[in-house]
Amino acid sequence: MKITDILKGKDAVLSFEVFPPKTSDKFESVWSAVEEIAALRPDFMSVTYGAGGGTSAYTVKISQGIKALGVNSVAHLSCISSSREDVNKKLVLLKEAGVENILALRGDIPAGFTGNLEYKYASELVGEVKRFGGFCIGGACYPEGHPESSTIFSDIENLKRKVDAGCDYLTTQMFFDNDIFYSFLSKVYSAGINVPVIPGIMPITRANQIARTFGLLGSPIPAKFRRIVDRFGDKPEAMRQAGVAYATEQMIDLYANGIRAVHVYSMNKAEVARAIKANLAGII
Ligand code: FAD
Repeated sequence: MKITDILKGKDAVLSFEVFPPKTSDKFESVWSAVEEIAALRPDFMSVTYGAGGGTSAYTVKISQGIKALGVNSVAHLSCISSSREDVNKKLVLLKEAGVENILALRGDIPAGFTGNLEYKYASELVGEVKRFGGFCIGGACYPEGHPESSTIFSDIENLKRKVDAGCDYLTTQMFFDNDIFYSFLSKVYSAGINVPVIPGIMPITRANQIARTFGLLGSPIPAKFRRIVDRFGDKPEAMRQAGVAYATEQMIDLYANGIRAVHVYSMNKAEVARAIKANLAGII
């Protein structure tokens, strides 16, 4: 089913994200996590695309496998280090695999990459997927602004171009303070962007995730979350519980404020997805 149809059909949509293995010997362990997460019957699961496209075959395979388990899937597809020919081949494969949803991304330029770039921005990929036809197309957006953008407003202008190129919905980068998301949403609507925006929530369950996560966002850790890390960061079980509780609280606030869908960056942690699903059992 297409994401836009899922969003029309339910008041509280829940989705989980998984990532493909980097090497073939890790496929079985990734797949068993995918099966465990799919058994929770989320409304959909999305499968990331390895930076540089190295694990792209697994993205197609896992997206197809999730559908075979009876759960809707979204395949991520990035373009920065691909040729137009590669992208078209990938679209054919995705169509043949029965994948109906694509999250169309630019991706980050791999370190040391020196080739010619056939794509500069995700909007070019979005336009190409749209012309190919038949897919529901998602795009990424950034409540705190994309790190390369000088202001949130210029980023939203570029986002409008991407949506106009053919995005049917957007999924946000993770954030840890819902007010940042609500403020972003009002700017997005003011810019004339009318597609659904799905907030992405990342449960931080280990202290060693923090530096990378906030480095990626380029933003400070909110004080409320900082206190959790200071108190529980060196106690793995306490940090896991507190991280899941923090993410759950964010999600409940989002649903309570009328947001119809929340995407969880569960990555391949089935136990985290399970705990979140249990916490929301009466809501979703
Ligand atoms: P774009 O929309 O192209 O934006 C990139 C930058 O260019 C922004 O600063 C934007 O403002 C600017 N820009 C856009 N258009 C123009 C224009 N016309 N003129 C000037 N500036 C412009 N990465 C992966 O490798 N694999 C994944 O599976 C993956 N999944 C993701 C899922 C989500 C929900 C999110 C939020 C990110 C994901 N990423 C993934 C990371 C993403 O690829 C990077 O954040 C990347 O740096 C930007 O990708 P984008 O699609 O947002 O790019």
